[in-house]
Amino acid sequence: MAHKKVPMEHDKKIALVAHDHKKRDLTEWAKYNRDLLAHHKVYATGTTGRVLQKELGFEITTLQSGPLGGDQQIGAKIADGKIDFLIFFWDPLEPMPHDPDVKALLRMAVVWNIPIACNRASADFMISSPLMDGEYDRLVPDYDEYRARKMTKDGSR
Ligand code: PGA
Repeated sequence: MAHKKVPMEHDKKIALVAHDHKKRDLTEWAKYNRDLLAHHKVYATGTTGRVLQKELGFEITTLQSGPLGGDQQIGAKIADGKIDFLIFFWDPLEPMPHDPDVKALLRMAVVWNIPIACNRASADFMISSPLMDGEYDRLVPDYDEYRARKMTKDGSR
């Protein structure tokens, strides 16, 4: 499949999400990296956003709580090209009522080739990457071919 280049600007749009047992981890990580995060535009699901805003002291765009649609809102922003990065500390030891939304959010991140960090070590490597501090052309598969695909009469491809 061919690719299109989607430019990411110097100041990036970062989404932060943490499940309840991972909120402390994300808060510690975000506090440690506060100055690096501060010049980016930060989005978060409801509860994560409220906790982080209190701790970090800069404005965070807070969406719905995850189980109430926040994960889907972030997924929609990824599809619209409005989120460049996802830091998502999901809990591998806890079943969630919104498991399908969690899977859908991770899927959107892969569909649109945005960087995802699902634990602290990955988030450390991501935030300290020299690529964070400049413009970057993200290669996104050119889905025009997919959009233009022909359907057979019975609906199969
Ligand atoms: P919360 O949602 O930030 O509102 O807790 C996170 C999630 O469960 O996806």
